[in-house]
Amino acid sequence: MRRMEENQTLSRREAIAAFGAGALGVSAAVLASPRPARAAATRALDAGASRSGPLRLIHMTDTHVQPERKAYDGLLACINHAASQKPDLIITGGDLIMDSFEATEKRTTEQWDLFTRAWKSAGYTGDVRHTLGNHDIWGWNKKKSQTRGDEARWGKQWALDNLHMDRAWHAFDKGAWHFVVLDSVQPDGDTGYIGRLQDEQFEWLTADLAANRTKPTCIVSHISILTATPLIDMKDKPREGWKVSGGVVMTDMARIIKLFGENPQVKLALSGHMHRNERIDYRGVSYICDGAVSGNWWKGAHYECTEGYGLLDLHDDGAFTHTYTNYGWKAEA
Ligand SMILES: [Zn+2]
Repeated sequence: MRRMEENQTLSRREAIAAFGAGALGVSAAVLASPRPARAAATRALDAGASRSGPLRLIHMTDTHVQPERKAYDGLLACINHAASQKPDLIITGGDLIMDSFEATEKRTTEQWDLFTRAWKSAGYTGDVRHTLGNHDIWGWNKKKSQTRGDEARWGKQWALDNLHMDRAWHAFDKGAWHFVVLDSVQPDGDTGYIGRLQDEQFEWLTADLAANRTKPTCIVSHISILTATPLIDMKDKPREGWKVSGGVVMTDMARIIKLFGENPQVKLALSGHMHRNERIDYRGVSYICDGAVSGNWWKGAHYECTEGYGLLDLHDDGAFTHTYTNYGWKAEA
């Protein structure tokens, strides 16, 4: 979003990073900024203040914006609340709009318009990266969405176009950290989806991690690689075991977890999808599922989990803190 400002911010911050934080921050910002020196120096103090500490990441997932239930106001309030934390980076976790999987072209247009307008209206001009969720995919349920499947924006294309992304999975560096955003949603049958990586993406991930072994790494996916949330409210306890849907956890978790074992620089794996906040530490990786900005799809708390986002401070040595943070939203009665 807001590409011009984003690039400006990036170039300033990258320049500061290149020179090191602190005293050199001011001159680096002046060099990189096209604006008058005084304004640049003031901003550089801000940047310097956050730069001298850890990298601040906001993980904002399941915003599910829609015309109803004041979802637009909620999303705007959340972005502004997040901006007040002075993050270096916001990563959205997917399910950005309420739903386009089963929605018509008209309804999908309305939702993306709201999403774009909220981010443009909000007081945040910094770095934003996006993750795709199942609800951001247009028309995979052809019957309900009244699509044919040969529309130019069918499937993931509409979201990619709207988010100015070339591909649904990507990697980048920020500060000392390496970030990998995965595309965790694949088609399953005619009307469904399943959590997994296609082989092509898994091979890309393998190569990307091999090429970045020295950087602490944060993985982001919409569907959790590892989560116990689907088990929490299982009603029966049949002797033969519980059934977990392949739509709520990565069905190829075994190969992904094995890959992380071969890449000890992977410290964090963030996800959404479940609208609940949970953390599992397993084999050196913290798997954190953050609750939803929309809570129970804008109807209040989802089980115990109220509307919020993940606030993370990432240290250069791979240590981090995570706080699930409410932004003060009160759902429409
Ligand atoms: Zn969701």
